[in-house]
Amino acid sequence: MTAVPLDDSDVQRVLCVAAHPDDLDFGASGTVATWTRAGIAVTYLLCTRGDQGGFDDTPRELMPALREQEQRDAAAVVGVEDVRFLDGFRDGWLEPSHDLQRAIVRVIRQVRPQRMLIQSSERNWERIGASHPDHLAAGEAAIRAIYPAARNPFAYPELLEEEGLDAWVVDEVWIMGVPEPNHWVDITGTFDAKISALRAHKSQTSHMDDLETRLRGWGSANALAAGLPEDHVAEAYRVISTA
Ligand SMILES: [Zn+2]
Repeated sequence: MTAVPLDDSDVQRVLCVAAHPDDLDFGASGTVATWTRAGIAVTYLLCTRGDQGGFDDTPRELMPALREQEQRDAAAVVGVEDVRFLDGFRDGWLEPSHDLQRAIVRVIRQVRPQRMLIQSSERNWERIGASHPDHLAAGEAAIRAIYPAARNPFAYPELLEEEGLDAWVVDEVWIMGVPEPNHWVDITGTFDAKISALRAHKSQTSHMDDLETRLRGWGSANALAAGLPEDHVAEAYRVISTA
């Protein structure tokens, strides 16, 4: 069944949560660019700094700061200025723990988004690369944080008592990397920005000579599934209402 998302004009704030720097750029930055161009304030929350990433001999201790800066640069390309990183979670070791859930609930209650974009907690057997275990963990922790924890004032009551963070209901969730999408966004007009954002992740993409071709291939397959014209590109989601 095709989803009917909220109209963008009814959305003031979006919070995107992902495990690693570059995940949001691969999966959703074309869509994010359409949102920021529509005047929506978008916040990125990365659960790790991607310290297991990279492909060359960059000293490993430099990787977290390097990848944080790459993500900030990539976000700026698609109009996202508010980029946050959680501390204390290690790339490759992410679990949907209460520590991670609480950390996400904190940011939900700070940002108070109407819409969230998260990773899939469900493994996509057709595209194993989208289903890195950290992605599954970040997706599971994020959906648990959205429902029920963020809206329940009795969940993590210390967030209210110590930080004054009231319960918040997120109306709608967009899940990327899902096995069965029900909503597609035509990103033909923001595809160049998406590629520029991905190129900002130099430690991850500078060796990919076929980056644009590969991304155009995925985007075209999505566009085809969405019934869009042949020369279009799209990003795919499962959109759910949490009402
Ligand atoms: Zn990742």
